[in-house]
Amino acid sequence: MEKAPFWQRKQLHEMTHEEWESLCDGCALCCLHKIEDEDTEEVFYTTVVCHLLDEDTCQCTRYEERTKLVPSCVQLRPEDVSEFHWLPPSCAYRLIHEGEPLPEYHPLVSGDKGSLIESGMSVLNVYEIKDDEIDHDEELVEFVMEEGIIFRG
Ligand code: SF4
Ligand code: SF4
Repeated sequence: MEKAPFWQRKQLHEMTHEEWESLCDGCALCCLHKIEDEDTEEVFYTTVVCHLLDEDTCQCTRYEERTKLVPSCVQLRPEDVSEFHWLPPSCAYRLIHEGEPLPEYHPLVSGDKGSLIESGMSVLNVYEIKDDEIDHDEELVEFVMEEGIIFRG
């Protein structure tokens, strides 16, 4: 009998570094600015995205230095899986952590690196502006209040 693929038979903490890295489908939805309700700890995703996102490739333009350049940029680690509820509902790490299957558009499932972008499930289909297009925190809050929230984490 053929062995099931690693994402179906392994827990996140059991994956090799390469397997862990390959789980990221590159949607960049986690690069959207988020707002957290201090009382309920609910996370809401806004239409404002990080200025380091490349809007053509949907990739980070400064990946190696990202956490230095953008302190709020979170590096996902296996030891933090219990906190993955804040990730976008479609994020592969969250899906696996919650025992859900990967969607058909995920490159690991489709075997096609371009399938995620083609599916329309990336940040390119939902963001409105980059954060460096807004001068002050007050304007950012104003924009978010007017534009609304895209989805809950
Ligand atoms: S939301 Fe998840 S799958 Fe998408 S880019 Fe971020 S870590 Fe990768
Ligand atoms: S620094 Fe790069 S990976 Fe981090 S939020 Fe910005 S675009 Fe995304």
